[in-house]
Amino acid sequence: MSSYYSHSSLTESEKTLHYILDTVSDGVWDWNACTGRVERSPSWYRMLNYDIHSMKKDIFTWENLIHPDDYDRVMKHLESYLNKTIPQYQIKYRCKKADGSYLWIQDTAKIVEEKKDGTVLRMIGSHVNIDKEEIFYKQIQEQNKSLIINQSSLENIIKQRTKELEKLNKKLEKKIEKSEYNASHDVLTGIYNRRKFEELLNNEMNRAKRYSHPLSLILLDIDNFKNINDSLGHRKGDKVLKHLTTLLQKNIRNMDLIARWGGDEFILVLPNTEKMHAKAKAYKLKILIENTLRIKDITITCSFGVSQFESEDSKLTLFERTDKALFLSKKNNRNTVTLL
Ligand code: GH3
Ligand code: MG
Repeated sequence: MSSYYSHSSLTESEKTLHYILDTVSDGVWDWNACTGRVERSPSWYRMLNYDIHSMKKDIFTWENLIHPDDYDRVMKHLESYLNKTIPQYQIKYRCKKADGSYLWIQDTAKIVEEKKDGTVLRMIGSHVNIDKEEIFYKQIQEQNKSLIINQSSLENIIKQRTKELEKLNKKLEKKIEKSEYNASHDVLTGIYNRRKFEELLNNEMNRAKRYSHPLSLILLDIDNFKNINDSLGHRKGDKVLKHLTTLLQKNIRNMDLIARWGGDEFILVLPNTEKMHAKAKAYKLKILIENTLRIKDITITCSFGVSQFESEDSKLTLFERTDKALFLSKKNNRNTVTLL
């Protein structure tokens, strides 16, 4: 048995103790502050793979083995314990092995004797090999870090994608809105087109039936519009169509419906209106148009066909009657209102 004390001077119990210390796998050290000598157990040498008792038995041997990155921390901790600022000396750090690699150890020690002035005389400690646990712990810490990074970058990607998706959705909604608008409105004048108008007229006819309310239609068509296009150009013709739209819009009730029926033809639906009132309304519009709608000194006039929805009417028969009334106005020298 090799021991770090000379056996001759030891009692039986001390020998037993040293035998135990020799057989444990971790290292034990014993520092005498007066002599500066540090005794280390053979297991200490074995733990770090040095030949037993091959190192100088002083404190510098230990200091030189501490990993440079851990050195300051360890010295501070030792000083604090020696100054009695902290009650316990226990610290983890890396110790250099014979092959130059480092081993994580836990150093735990205690002052066992003090000088008269209260300073340390003797300190005993143990170096426990915690390399596997510490490396495992560090790996877990690294894994956790990268997990947190991965998780946060995943969250960022999701946030970014959600934003992009929201933007796309908004664009799509706008496109849908626009295409719905285009499907139901006339491009030039911005009022309802024929398709939408027919749909709305259905509702109005049903409502009129349900409440036994009168419902009238006014169909109007610009007189000799071809001449305006031919003499002033299509663009000026467009202008007339727009001006007429504005004029009509301004002179109907909120509840009335207006649509562009075709080229220079417009249709109005007047809910809750008797045919005589509708005829009077058409007449007012006729006067208003001939008095206000002008382009390059040319007076614009319109012909009107008026009809009231009857209970036996379908959409088709109602249109046909109104169209016939308009035809009669055209036949009757134009700029006229006909009620059928
Ligand atoms: P009438 O009094 O019998 O109605 O004679 P008109 O010349 O108005 O004849 P009609 O109503 O049959 O012709 C309509 C014209 O409207 C034909 C076309 O050149 C013109 N038109 C149709 N759509 C547009 C348009 O969007 N812009 C312009 N500038 N002209 C249009
Ligand atoms: Mg016309």
